[in-house]
Amino acid sequence: MLINGEWTEARSGLSFEVLNPATGESIGSVADGGAEDALLAITAAHDAFKTWSKTTAYERSAVLYRAWEIMTSRADELAHLMTVEQGKPLKASKAEVKYASDFLLWFAEEAKRVVGEWLPSQRPDQRFLSVKVPVGVVAAITPWNYPISMLTRKIGPALAAGCTVVLKPAEATPLCAKATFDVLTDAGLPDGVINMVTTSNPAPVGDIFTSDPRVAKLTFTGSTAVGRVLAAKAASNLQRVSVELGGHAPFIVFPDADPVHAAKGAAALKFLNAGQACISPNRLYVPSSLADLFQETLCSRVERLQTGNGLHDGVGVGPLINEVAVAKVETQVEDARNKGAGIPVGGMRLVNGEHSNGHFYAPTVLTDVKPEMSIYREETFGPVAPVITYEDPEQVIEMANDTNYGLAAYVYTKEIGVAMRAFEGLRFGIIGINDVNPTSASVPFGGMGDSGIGREGGHEGISEYLETKTGGFAI
Ligand code: ADP
Repeated sequence: MLINGEWTEARSGLSFEVLNPATGESIGSVADGGAEDALLAITAAHDAFKTWSKTTAYERSAVLYRAWEIMTSRADELAHLMTVEQGKPLKASKAEVKYASDFLLWFAEEAKRVVGEWLPSQRPDQRFLSVKVPVGVVAAITPWNYPISMLTRKIGPALAAGCTVVLKPAEATPLCAKATFDVLTDAGLPDGVINMVTTSNPAPVGDIFTSDPRVAKLTFTGSTAVGRVLAAKAASNLQRVSVELGGHAPFIVFPDADPVHAAKGAAALKFLNAGQACISPNRLYVPSSLADLFQETLCSRVERLQTGNGLHDGVGVGPLINEVAVAKVETQVEDARNKGAGIPVGGMRLVNGEHSNGHFYAPTVLTDVKPEMSIYREETFGPVAPVITYEDPEQVIEMANDTNYGLAAYVYTKEIGVAMRAFEGLRFGIIGINDVNPTSASVPFGGMGDSGIGREGGHEGISEYLETKTGGFAI
């Protein structure tokens, strides 16, 4: 754990092992912190806020810029660590490290774009000024699926705004968090500006983060269930809250689209990170006129995907994070099978040979998926592509919107009018039009409904860490 500039053990002296999900081997151990440690981390962040919040935007920008340079220079070692700890193929880890570093650069720039306003008064002897100030100590809780970029997406703007941070990373990926903190401290952050409490038991640390009055803001990325509980606790303490939660993305192929192109897009997108992404498509809507060609192309792509240890050449799909994750996918697929879904590819765990000690599930295509199947409504977080055939393109937007989630949606069409109507009609925060990667550090990321509150990245990303102060000056 990093508390006030020092790497320390837990006060309890306990630690826990970190396992490679592809091999089951231990790759290290970290401090198993608790409430006491969380309090010390908050004290450090609270003290450091007094000076960090007074630094100039240029100074904060310079530190973030250095952090970007350092992360870029360490990209290969960070990517290797990510693959070993989280499982995604090395190429995907490299892409994530690049995405993570993009937030450092973007917010190094945004730090200098925080401006106020000079506003009119009805009184000739009065002047109004409105400025932005950092909210204070930020508590961040992050997930394991993107174990470096989810940190920089929060810490980058928090630091740029002049806030200090206490982080609790996911228990599955504390080593990536430590390596990210090494980048930030090597960039010259003063002691106490960022602090990290690792733990195998998140609830007591979450309780301290959401109840300590010195914490001004909670930022969380993870499941809707946990986000809902934490947001409620934080709200009762009047902390500011941003929560990036689950999703259930529709992927709509319109009748005018090229089904082969769309199927290649679906195959590329669905199996990224073994489907463990909140913006992963969970319902592929294909018109019956295109279903055969779409499914044929999708299946042939999925059959060719190699599943294994992400360090090995040619592997396109890594392990799932743990046994619970595999069991959840298995339950959803069995439910779909029992209710009549076809399974032309996959549909089982991989347990032999190189898969025997890891958490592997075969890349899977489900056909004839129906609303009564649990996969139609529940987020999957696994390598399963559920295909739903539809008849009426007039109704497909309504079908796609029929979910409590509202994070990402994807559309394939060649018609600009169809694309625009879909963009306007879909109730989702991020929409890819013939585009399987509608994300970047430069654009807002976040969802509607049960997918969360707030936006990360883009111009809005920093405003989550700022509040407004108005001055009325009688002159
Ligand atoms: P996932 O299903 O992606 O693991 P979680 O919501 O369980 O999603 O985890 C996301 C983050 O939330 C992790 O850092 C995890 O440790 C943390 N977390 C889980 N339960 C709690 C809790 N009760 N209080 C605080 N943090 C929690």
